[in-house]
Amino acid sequence: MLQTPHQPLQTAAIPSQRPAVRDRGDDAGPWHSEAVCRRDEAGLFFAPSKEPTAARLSREAAAKRVCAGCPVMVECREHALLQPEPYGVWGGLTAAERRVVLARRRRREMERRAAARGAVAAAG
Ligand code: SF4
Repeated sequence: MLQTPHQPLQTAAIPSQRPAVRDRGDDAGPWHSEAVCRRDEAGLFFAPSKEPTAARLSREAAAKRVCAGCPVMVECREHALLQPEPYGVWGGLTAAERRVVLARRRRREMERRAAARGAVAAAG
């Protein structure tokens, strides 16, 4: 079942219904309980089916405004990147924006490894 920080679109769980981040072995803390989107009455965070582009952009902008005032935006964003969460606005980023961030992180990591290999080769 898809789980979200928001009130469910269809079957998703709200933050307090998910295992706390710390329960998965990291120390980020139970940020879900502070999520300001716990009740997404407006349905801002996930797209309804067949949503027109203009409506999607408007909805996502509204969701991002909510995220901007959320005290756990950083934790939420990292959670969505680490999972990774494939749908919805999390931590102020859309799914497409998260894919870009992840691709950038992967590229940086590859560059870091290549540089480390180069340093080892130069030293040896
Ligand atoms: S950052 Fe946005 S999506 Fe994440 S918990 Fe806060 S309001 Fe919800």
